[in-house]
Amino acid sequence: MDNPTPDRNSFQNLSTDKAKGLGNVPTRVNLLACIRYEGRRLERLNSVMQAIEKTINSTAFRRQVLEFRYRGQYSFYYRRNLLGRYIDKPYTNAQVYEIIMDAQELVKEDPEPTIDLYLELVIGSNGSVIGYGNPGSKEIYTYSEMFDQMEIDELANHYVHEWCHKIGFDHSYLPTAKRNSSVPYAIGNIIETLLDGNPSHIE
Ligand SMILES: [Zn+2]
Repeated sequence: MDNPTPDRNSFQNLSTDKAKGLGNVPTRVNLLACIRYEGRRLERLNSVMQAIEKTINSTAFRRQVLEFRYRGQYSFYYRRNLLGRYIDKPYTNAQVYEIIMDAQELVKEDPEPTIDLYLELVIGSNGSVIGYGNPGSKEIYTYSEMFDQMEIDELANHYVHEWCHKIGFDHSYLPTAKRNSSVPYAIGNIIETLLDGNPSHIE
């Protein structure tokens, strides 16, 4: 989903105290709601949450974020309008990493670096759509038919992608090649790649 790009004017406060972005304080996954996830689905969801927490705190993840390139530059892809002005606020890769590890959702201020997730399973399907979130709200909705079909690494990608919207990142609605280099897509893909079943990928 496309969220309006927030003005993260609090960014300058992300400074030294917790040494964010350096992995000194682990970033926890906090599953605050898991509506309609039950039984085997809840077990799988918990596996996904563990996988996300482990991966996001790995040095491999840090390295992949810092070394992410779009068209040869160390950067994610940020949209501009026809006048060349940024639609998405552009950050350095180090800033992207800090924002992720700081895990301050737009709808809630939290002194701890926790990925706060409010998840709701939507029974059924909607074509190939995995799920969605709405701008300005904390919930992440996931279609049950997709959830049941997807592997742990794919689900981790989905939740991290949607959560990236909750911390202010966005991308174009249309599926373009560039979109895969936007923060939500690229970060989700990094998580999935690091989890693709080869444990040697995670340090
Ligand atoms: Zn999205």
